[in-house]
Amino acid sequence: MASKKTDSSSSSAAARGKNVRCRYCGQKNSVRANYKNGRANCGKCKLPLSDEYHKKFADLTKHEYVHPADSKALAALRAIPGVDTALRKLIQVTGESAVRVSLMASAVKVTPKQCPDLHAKLQVACTTLGVDMPDLFIQQNPIVNAFTTGVEKHVIVLHSGLLERLNDEETLAVIAHEVGHIHAEHVLYLTAARLFEALAKGTLTVVPGSEIIKFLISAGISSALLAWARRAELSCDRAALLVTQDPHVIGKTMMKLGGGTMASKIDYEQFLEQAKEFQKNYDENKLDKFWADIINAGQTHPFPIWRVSEILEWVDSGQYADLMAK
Ligand SMILES: [Zn+2]
Ligand SMILES: [Zn+2]
Repeated sequence: MASKKTDSSSSSAAARGKNVRCRYCGQKNSVRANYKNGRANCGKCKLPLSDEYHKKFADLTKHEYVHPADSKALAALRAIPGVDTALRKLIQVTGESAVRVSLMASAVKVTPKQCPDLHAKLQVACTTLGVDMPDLFIQQNPIVNAFTTGVEKHVIVLHSGLLERLNDEETLAVIAHEVGHIHAEHVLYLTAARLFEALAKGTLTVVPGSEIIKFLISAGISSALLAWARRAELSCDRAALLVTQDPHVIGKTMMKLGGGTMASKIDYEQFLEQAKEFQKNYDENKLDKFWADIINAGQTHPFPIWRVSEILEWVDSGQYADLMAK
C-alpha cells in the first residue's frame, strides 16, 4: 500500500512539474515538466530560468576588467596634487546628505517588499561581483537613465523611463553596470563629474562652495574628470557583462538606450554591424572633442554604438572568456 501511494504521488508530481533553482538568485521554482530553458521566469528575481551555470566571482579585483582607457585617464586625474581631498570637499559642501534626503522624499526606495524583483536583481549583481548592497531608488523621470552617487553611502538611482523600456535581463545589465561603478571605485569621481556636467550644461548655476569649483577648474581637474568619466563607462559595461554573462544582453540594452522609443523597430543584427563598422574607423585622439560636443549639446547618453563596439572587442580579445574560466 505504502509503495503504491508513493508511486501515485510521484506521478502526480511529474504531472505538476519539477523544481528548477534560479541560476541567478538561487530561488527554487516549480515549473511544468515540459518547461524549456529561458521560457519561464524566476518568481523572485523575474530573470529567465535555465539550468545553465551562472558564475559568481568570489575575489574579483577591478584590475581584472577595467578598460585601459579608464585606468589611464584616472591615473592622470589622480596625479593632480590634492585632487581627492578637493573633490571630497566639493561633494561635502554641495550636500551629499541633501541628495539622500531629496531621494527619500521624492523617489521610491527598493526593498525586499517594495519592487522585490528589482531588489533581487541588485542582490544578484552584488553577489556576482562581490560588492556590499547599496541603496536602490526608482525616480519618476522619462529620460532613460540610471546613475550611482553617494560617496559616504552609495546609492543607485534608476529612472522610471528606463524600467519601462527594458526587459528583466536588460534591467539586470543596467543595475550591474551601476554596481560596477561601486566595485571599480568610481563613485567619488563620477559624483564630481556629474556636478561639473550640470555646470557645463547650465542646469546648475549657483553652487555652494563655488570657490572650490574655481580651484578645481583652474587646476585642470574638471576637464581631466570629464575626460575620464566617459571612459569609466567602458569598464562598467564589462562589469555588466560579467553579471549577465551574455554579450547580446549588453548589446540589446545599448540598442534600446540608443534607439529610445524606436528600439522595437531597430534590427539588432544591423546594429551590431554598425558597431563593428564604428570600431574600424574609431580614432581615440578625436574622442575628447567629440565628448565635449555631446555634453554641450545636452545629451546624457554616451554613445551606445561606441560602447557596444568596445564590449564586442573585449569579448573577441579573450579576456572575458579567461575571467569566466577562472
Ligand atoms: Zn531568481
Ligand atoms: Zn555608468
